[in-house]
Parts: sequence; structure tokens; C-alpha cells
Amino acid sequence: MSHSLYGPLEDPSGNAGYPDGHPPRVGFFTDTSVCIGCKACEVACKEWNALPADGSHHDEPDLLDLSGMSYDNTGGLGASTYRHVAFIEQKVPKRESATVDLGMPSPALPGADSEGDATEVRWLMASDVCKHCTHAACLDVCPTGALIRTEHGTVLVQDDICNGCGYCIPACPYGVIDQRKGDRDKGGGGAFKCTMCQDRLGAGLQPACATACPTESIQFGPLDGLRERAAARLEELHERGVPEARLYGHDPDDGVGGDGAFFLLLDEPEVYGLPPDPVVTTRDLPSMWRHAAVAALTVAGTVAAAFLGGRG
Ligand code: SF4
Ligand code: SF4
Repeated sequence: MSHSLYGPLEDPSGNAGYPDGHPPRVGFFTDTSVCIGCKACEVACKEWNALPADGSHHDEPDLLDLSGMSYDNTGGLGASTYRHVAFIEQKVPKRESATVDLGMPSPALPGADSEGDATEVRWLMASDVCKHCTHAACLDVCPTGALIRTEHGTVLVQDDICNGCGYCIPACPYGVIDQRKGDRDKGGGGAFKCTMCQDRLGAGLQPACATACPTESIQFGPLDGLRERAAARLEELHERGVPEARLYGHDPDDGVGGDGAFFLLLDEPEVYGLPPDPVVTTRDLPSMWRHAAVAALTVAGTVAAAFLGGRG
């Protein structure tokens, strides 16, 4: 079986060698339009996976790091944060449909500027996670086999096999996977990221974040069904006058072959800190090796010709 590094791939688990009859590929559909930013997903993930505190004070868990910039004190995904809820505050043009005119004089709305150019402030909230890519560069570059494709089609780090080399960190096109500080014998040093609660999947449960989410912003299930659900939700939002709604990471023809964790966003991906056009970083490896081999052969041929010419 040839191992494909890019392009659409129907069955990543089958491609990794799992026999016919393995479980269907599962994933997350995160619908940010209904996220209320409660962080239940972050907390449930920390609880279930027994993750240590983040930040510079992580050796002193009683000291809480505050960003001082936002309600978001987590800041981003990391070795001890497998789910991160982003908060983005935006000024947007006032929508005609957003208020009802009662014909009464009223003071300016909060957010309206002094020249009467009315704007609203909106919060975008989005719970980010490892994308469990169809083509996962983190897995491709791992020299020890610590990163594996599971029978559910997800990508998993095995901490007992990880040697802490860190190759996977720059390979991830989303900047997800990270190395935990601390000594190896105290649980640090290795690479960590979302496991999609592999232990819960094995017991027939869904991941902790999806279980905790009170608004069903995080939906879990077989990927094919999630893609259908997402397409229907997108259509519904467009019909209800939300033209800016768009899907991200759902397309098997994108640069990573589609994500196992994909999103419905209300603005450009960059606004949420997501790359607009991610590409699996190992895509060009075969052609790079071919070029290197040709270059090496050319050098060897030139040296041999010079040597033989010199003897003549
Ligand atoms: S998002 Fe990054 S860490 Fe997650 S599977 Fe893809 S390459 Fe690996
Ligand atoms: S639990 Fe659900 S609603 Fe709450 S922050 Fe996470 S995704 Fe948003």
C-alpha cells in the first residue's frame, strides 16, 4: 500500500494499515455561531486529561496567569491546553435587522460614534483544537513512531514513545502541537496535543469537550455525517441573513486533505488566528528527495569525469 502525503484520502485509517471493518472516521464540527464562550470545553478537557496549569507559573499552580488583555487568559493551544476558546472583539456595521424601531427618541447606541455612523460591537468566540488532519505532517516527521493514526482516523501522541525531539512542532501547519516544560521523568519534555479523548472513544463515549458544551457548538461523530450537518447549518445561516458564515477545514481537496476537526466561522480564518490556506508541510518531501538524489548523482558524475579526465 502506498502512503499518500497529500490530496483527498477517503480512509486515513485504512491507508495507515487498519484492516477492513475498522471503526468509521470520527471528528469534531465546531459551530462557532452558537459558542457562548463559557469555556466548559476547556475545563472538561483539563479535567478529563488531568492537564497541568499553563503559563509561566505552571510550577506553582496556585498562581494564576492573567493576560490583562482579554477575558481569554489561556492565550492559545499548547502542551497543556488541548482546547482553547478564542475571544475576538470586533466593531461591525449596524444591521438593519438587529434592532426594532419603536419610533421613540433614544440616546446613541453603545458603539455608535459621534457622527452617527452606527456600529455594533460583537464578540466572536471559537473553541480551537487539533485538526486531526487527513495528512498529518506531525505524524509524517516523527522519527520514533510516537505519533500514530488511530483506528478512528484521529492522530495520537504516545507519550511513552515520544523522545522529545520536537520535530513535530514546526511541522504542524496550524501551530497546534507543543512540548511540555519540565523533566521527562516528571511528565514533561514530550509533545502533547488533543487526543480526541481516545480513552473515552474506546469505551463508547464521546470526547469530554463535546459532552460538556451546553450549546452543542462542539459536535462529535462520524465525519461524513458531520460534514452533511455542517452544510445544512451553513445553508440555514445564509437563508437567515448571515452571508459571512463559512466552513473551514471541511474540504477534502484543501492543502491537508481536509481536517478531522473543522469549523463554521463568521469571519476570515485569520481573524480567529487560523491559517487561511494550510498545506501539509511534508507535501513536497518526495520531490525534494528526488531533486537531492539527482544533484548527488550529478556531483558524483562530475567528480568521476574529472578524475578519469585527469588520469588521461
Ligand atoms: S493539526 Fe497539527 S498536530 Fe494536529 S494532526 Fe494536524 S499536523 Fe498534527
Ligand atoms: S463549551 Fe461550547 S459554548 Fe462553551 S466555550 Fe466551549 S464551545 Fe463555546
